[in-house]
This record gives sequence, C-alpha cells and structure tokens, in this order.
Amino acid sequence: MISEHTKRLKHYRKLIGQYVNYWAPVMGLDSWAELSVDYTYVPCPDAPFALAKCQADWQHMTAILSFYLGIFVAEDLSDERTEAVVVHEMCHALLSEISPDCNDGHEERVVTYLTESFLRTKYRERNQRCSSTCGKSSSTNTTS
Ligand SMILES: [Zn+2]
Repeated sequence: MISEHTKRLKHYRKLIGQYVNYWAPVMGLDSWAELSVDYTYVPCPDAPFALAKCQADWQHMTAILSFYLGIFVAEDLSDERTEAVVVHEMCHALLSEISPDCNDGHEERVVTYLTESFLRTKYRERNQRCSSTCGKSSSTNTTS
C-alpha cells in the first residue's frame, strides 16, 4: 500500500516534469546541450529548506535542475507555486552566463521578475483565449 506521503512525492515529481517539458522549449532551454532534472527526496545539504536549485554551465550549455520533493510535500505547495519554482530555476540557467556565481541578490530579484513575467504571459493568453470562446475568464491558478 502506498502511503499518502509517497503519493504526494509522486504527484510533485510528475507535475515538475510536466512543467519542465512545457517551459524548456518556451524558454529556449531545449536547445541547450543538456538539461537534466534531478528529483531528490532528501533536503539540500547546503540549504535544508530550499525547494530547488540550478547548477548551470553556460559555456557548455548544460544545466541540472534539482528538486527537493520532500520540501514540496512539507510545504504542501500548490500547482501554481510548483510551476513558479520550475520557471524560477530555469531562469537561473538562462542568467548563469551573466551571473556565474549565482549567489547575489540581484540575480534573485531579476529571476523573480522574469518568472512572474513568463507566468503572467502564459496565463494572460489563456485567459484571453477562454474569454473569446466561452465568455468567461479562467483563473490564473488553472494548470493543465
Ligand atoms: Zn533563486
């Protein structure tokens, strides 16, 4: 019998994979030599409360996105927040060329703005499409 905790871990793993598959071509990361996704069940040793991290090598156009699934479960992250975490880490990959140490506050701020912009663009288009076909505006929380 699968525990509720294991079900939640699997849920987040599947959801993150779907978001990576959606966003990689949108953000141009599908043209990189390698975009790996690492799902781990133990917290990040350097930052035990981190949801994810990105290790990018812009010169060789490779990136590893690590997702700490236990933290997703502990925080009971919504689908919307999960998507934002995925986009956030992908933005770090894109910015790795201009901010190679990846630890300054400026990069975090830019990544946060870019993440909000990408998500707003996606859901604005969806809202406009829905309102033109069914007359209703869909929620920005909707994910598929
Ligand atoms: Zn960040």
